[in-house]
Amino acid sequence: MHDFIIIGGGILGMSTAMQLQQAHPQQRMVVLEKEEQLARHQSGHNSGVIHAGVYYTPGSLKARFCLEGNRVTRDFCASHGVDYQVCGKLLVATSETEMQRMRALWERTAANGLQREWLSAEALREREPNVTGLGSIFVPSSGIVDYAAVTRAMADEFQRLGGEIRLGAPVSALQERRREMVVTTPREEFTARYVVSCAGLMADRVVRMLGRDPGFSICPFRGEYYALPARHNRIVDHLIYPIPDPARPFLGVHLTRMIDGSVTVGPNAVLAFKREGYRRRDLSWRDLAAMARDPGIRRVLADNLGPGLVEMKNSLHKRGYLELVRRYCPSLELDDLTPYPAGVRAQAVSPDGKLVDDFLFVQTPRSLHVGNAPSPAATSALPIGAHILATLEQQMVD
Ligand SMILES: Cc1cc2nc3c(=O)[nH]c(=O)nc-3n(C[C@H](O)[C@H](O)[C@H](O)COP(=O)(O)OP(=O)(O)OC[C@H]3O[C@@H](n4cnc5c(N)ncnc54)[C@H](O)[C@@H]3O)c2cc1C
Repeated sequence: MHDFIIIGGGILGMSTAMQLQQAHPQQRMVVLEKEEQLARHQSGHNSGVIHAGVYYTPGSLKARFCLEGNRVTRDFCASHGVDYQVCGKLLVATSETEMQRMRALWERTAANGLQREWLSAEALREREPNVTGLGSIFVPSSGIVDYAAVTRAMADEFQRLGGEIRLGAPVSALQERRREMVVTTPREEFTARYVVSCAGLMADRVVRMLGRDPGFSICPFRGEYYALPARHNRIVDHLIYPIPDPARPFLGVHLTRMIDGSVTVGPNAVLAFKREGYRRRDLSWRDLAAMARDPGIRRVLADNLGPGLVEMKNSLHKRGYLELVRRYCPSLELDDLTPYPAGVRAQAVSPDGKLVDDFLFVQTPRSLHVGNAPSPAATSALPIGAHILATLEQQMVD
């Protein structure tokens, strides 16, 4: 019998496992990951930004965990030999409407306790000669990292402390009994005192294995990127973000310096026809049928039909995509956008058709499930793991 079983070898599963093992070195723990390697899904397909905490509702879990995560992720990387950089970020307004939104963001960054600087159009040009805008907010604490490398470093630490990782171990059934959990994989059945699920794109399906209604459904949104050719590796010194439209859930196409020295453009947000489908042509009838049956997802799609179709059009027509980035980086040309792997976001949707905004957890007496952990959850992985640990310690009876 194990003390803890952690489902999912992404950054949240590994952060939780590592911190559980650090706090309870004598206890027996195993991570079950269905793929043959760690960080195969969201944790290995993202922008690699250590977010500062600009956008999130003051007082929300996202705001708190991101601010703290920014600091502790850097500390973790420094002490575990993971390469990272603190390059800072510029939020750039390109119209009067965006200037107004930028003022609102300025207030929000104050409420979230961020250090930042207001830049005029000239000051912006001085900092970034290839970027144009009417004004900008400079946030110095934003950084970049490879989150797959962070996940592996957490896994190494977990194993060093005695934890076990089983790859190629998809959990297919879960049963909650009075004194134990039974976890089934095709090769083996496990029992444990407690189960933590960090299953990302499959989060709702893992809760359903218990015969419970999770109270949310996962809607997959693909984020498509392009990479700039190597001659543009120094086109910007900072991360360059547009001012987001508060009516839209994602941050808008940005220019991101990657830790390997390259620069990406993206991601957009288009509905994925398969939960773990990274190519535009990937389609799963099971996933599509589940979305079509789900009243919350149907409502989200109906309410966002206009913007959704624009995203879809820009996904199919590179020129539309290019225009989004040329608003603030006008020197880029169509040939500069070269293929780059996409990611798929696990976004929880409520039964009444809202995108769940904050991080969300679902508890049963012997299990705890991460329900909604989109961006900035990679930045927030250490505080989220600590939060899960604290919650379990309150909950544990035997
Ligand atoms: C395009 C994109 C850009 C992003 N950019 C950023 C960013 O710049 N900064 C940031 O902070 N965040 C960013 N994010 C968000 C961040 O990547 C995720 O929030 C984070 O990786 C979530 O980690 P996770 O461990 O919950 O999920 P995942 O990494 O998806 O891990 C879940 C794991 O569970 C496993 N699993 C699922 N079901 C089972 C089962 N039944 N049995 C066993 N294993 C199972 C999966 O195989 C997977 O490995 C971005 C996300 C995307 C998609």
